[in-house]
Amino acid sequence: MHANIVTLPGDYIGPEIVAQAVKVLEKVAEKYGHTFSFEECALGGASIDACGVPLTDETLAKCNAADAVLMGSVGGPKWDGVEASRRPEKGLLALRKGMQVFANLRPCTIHPQLAGACPLRPDIIAQPIDIMILRELTGDIYFGKRWRSEDRTAATDEMAYSEMEVERLARIGFEMAMKRRKKLCSVDKANVLECSRLWRETVAKLAKEYPEVEVTYMYVDNAAMQLILRPSQFDVMITGNLFGDILSDESAAIAGSLGMMPSASLGAGTRGLYEPIHGSAPDIAGRDIANPLGTILSGALLLRHSLGLEKEAAAIEAAVTQVLDEGYRTGDIWSEGCTRVGCTQMGDLVAARI
Ligand code: NAD
Repeated sequence: MHANIVTLPGDYIGPEIVAQAVKVLEKVAEKYGHTFSFEECALGGASIDACGVPLTDETLAKCNAADAVLMGSVGGPKWDGVEASRRPEKGLLALRKGMQVFANLRPCTIHPQLAGACPLRPDIIAQPIDIMILRELTGDIYFGKRWRSEDRTAATDEMAYSEMEVERLARIGFEMAMKRRKKLCSVDKANVLECSRLWRETVAKLAKEYPEVEVTYMYVDNAAMQLILRPSQFDVMITGNLFGDILSDESAAIAGSLGMMPSASLGAGTRGLYEPIHGSAPDIAGRDIANPLGTILSGALLLRHSLGLEKEAAAIEAAVTQVLDEGYRTGDIWSEGCTRVGCTQMGDLVAARI
């Protein structure tokens, strides 16, 4: 197949890690007979430097015309003094909004080779952990009305959801569950919140279309607890923006290393935005020591969710596992007895194992 991929390396370690993911995707294309054309655009601080704004209309138009977008990370101290409305993160928020990606996918798996980095007891992670957290990204309390009293001593934030917003997110969750272990846990606070009651009713209605999927409902406080007590019980978890923000970071802590974690943001079609969950790591930029695996694994998600290339996505994931099995580690995941490698070398090692 032929696919157009826009890359947005961003700032600090962004260009270093995106270059490794592109290298691996090019190897996949060569091996499996595809052609991927990459077009690089500036986002965040890089775009402020080049054009004065963190996201230009031209870049957004290119992203919306592409089959998929692969991003590094944006921001850093160089732009700390820039006025709030033009900061690098604004570029990312505008990109997500402009691409209409409303579903954020955060897979959480523990690579057995990195189990030592997981803060949970070994008996808790003895069962395999493979969770897909699906967080709604464009609604909820983050986008509701805000109010602050004149004397600044009281404030409110409005939580709002419509059936349409819940349904389109839940549908992606059910479709995903069908391709996985056919289990879906919907997380809410329906004992207290009206939005959550709407959420639960909408999920229950949609569940009738997916009789093969085993659906459970969990209050968010219990879900936060269950994630650390018995994480292996979960397959797909769907939840709103606020609860998902918290639970997805909790799941990242369970996995142990920021540098390893990919993410995908999807909309109504197949076009998606793929990025590692970490930031631009200014403290280690320019030294070729960043861990590129979160970005490389985001490339695997891109193949799976935007291009429908499951075999190729699995090949990237297997190559990463193999490199870890062979004992290669970047500094952030290094432990005694392992071979320390840099960012470029890690990219080379994964590409060579495709
Ligand atoms: P960070 O994720 O950049 O770094 C936190 C720590 O983790 C640092 O010690 C860093 O060296 C390390 N780290 C992160 N990624 C790594 C990797 N791939 N390999 C090895 N080590 C890695 O978070 P921060 O320091 O809070 O933020 C730095 C900048 O990134 C800020 O400007 C922030 O706004 C921005 N940021 C951007 C995104 C994004 O683009 N989506 C997300 C989070 C933070």
